[in-house]
Amino acid sequence: MKFEDLNIDSNVLGAIYDMGYEKPTKIQYETIPLIKQGHDVIGQSETGSGKTAAFGIPMIERVDKGRGLQAMVLAPTRELALQIAGELKKFSKRKGLFVQTVYGGVAMGPQVSGLRKAEIVVGTPGRVMDHMRRGTLRTDIIRIFVLDEADKMINMGFVEDIEFVARSLPKDRQTLLFSATMPSALMRIRDRFTRDAKKIRTANKVQDNMLKQYYCDVDRAKKFSLLVHLIDKENPELGIIFCNSRRDVDSISSNLKSNNINAGSLHGGMTQARREKVMDMFHNGRFRFLVATDVAARGLDINDVSHIFNYSIPKYSEEYTNRIGRTARAGKTGKAISLLCRDDHPSFSRIIRLFDYEIEKMHVGQFRRVPFRRGVRRPDMYSGRFGGRRGRRFGDRGRVMNRTNYRRSRRYS
Ligand code: ADP
Ligand code: MG
Repeated sequence: MKFEDLNIDSNVLGAIYDMGYEKPTKIQYETIPLIKQGHDVIGQSETGSGKTAAFGIPMIERVDKGRGLQAMVLAPTRELALQIAGELKKFSKRKGLFVQTVYGGVAMGPQVSGLRKAEIVVGTPGRVMDHMRRGTLRTDIIRIFVLDEADKMINMGFVEDIEFVARSLPKDRQTLLFSATMPSALMRIRDRFTRDAKKIRTANKVQDNMLKQYYCDVDRAKKFSLLVHLIDKENPELGIIFCNSRRDVDSISSNLKSNNINAGSLHGGMTQARREKVMDMFHNGRFRFLVATDVAARGLDINDVSHIFNYSIPKYSEEYTNRIGRTARAGKTGKAISLLCRDDHPSFSRIIRLFDYEIEKMHVGQFRRVPFRRGVRRPDMYSGRFGGRRGRRFGDRGRVMNRTNYRRSRRYS
């Protein structure tokens, strides 16, 4: 199956080839024809299977330059909105469409002026709603409405916001819903947002041969030492360490740094500017490790991640699938290692029950204990709002923080 067989507009086809795509992925060739025919479509496929292009390609084809806002994409986080918009811009390069992102935590002004010119808006539900209420986002000619990473939006409690947005859009619009998983809460509401939708689901399993999953049993008190040991032993090219809370993210990354392991943190409590900075540094190889919460890392398109460490096991089982989907992408191999102490067992057994995964026990033997300090001692300019005001104040001033100026400033605080 080739892109030509999908009868794609030559402008868009050119852009696709410019991007180096050779042939459509499964979800793409299944959904693109249906979307082109005007159906509402529900597309479910694993992370990394190319869902953005599945709705992006037919969207770009159908949106006209200079005719006002015709398409809207809702996404759960700022990073995802930016990533989707980046991809859409590439598809529309030859067509020259204007894609505006809108998300919270930054000024309204530039978004407002962008929206006046935009043909496509990609945004997080809350900020999209704000713009609609203020009348700075006109919905009257929106023909295509996309809910991307719908499972995540539901988990994050955006149901009401999505409803508000959906109700305000023209009734004859086309609705496309894309998701990696279909938890029951999403099944219940998806039919409210779509009409006679075609449901496409492609193999949900992460490629078993490329991705090996392991778990290690460990006492809670030794968890951090085990993580350091595993990092030494596995020597990952790039790794993501997932934690369940922002607090853990900050504490793990600061402790890793004390052990000379360079790590950046990513979580929802950080300012947009910092999150982007951290992502840039990770992409540029400045950090080998990213310590992240699910929300912040969700759907990010990071290639070449060789290892996923689950420092704690997510409460929502789908998050496990999303986490491990960050590795073994684009034909590469990867490892996912879960560190289990007693607290993690209920969540872990739920994952085992729910999914058809083979998760092998990894035997680690003896390992060195390393110091672990609770909380975060040293402010880290990239880790956001840990420990309340102190860190925030430094970060917001944009100063480069090091041990010396931290000590000095502490004397005065
Ligand atoms: P998903 O939303 O399903 O998690 P993405 O849309 O983020 O997946 O795509 C994952 C990666 O695959 C991106 O880097 C994207 O550019 C790339 N990609 C998508 N479709 C193709 C294709 N047909 N050929 C090659 N690469 C593709
Ligand atoms: Mg996606």
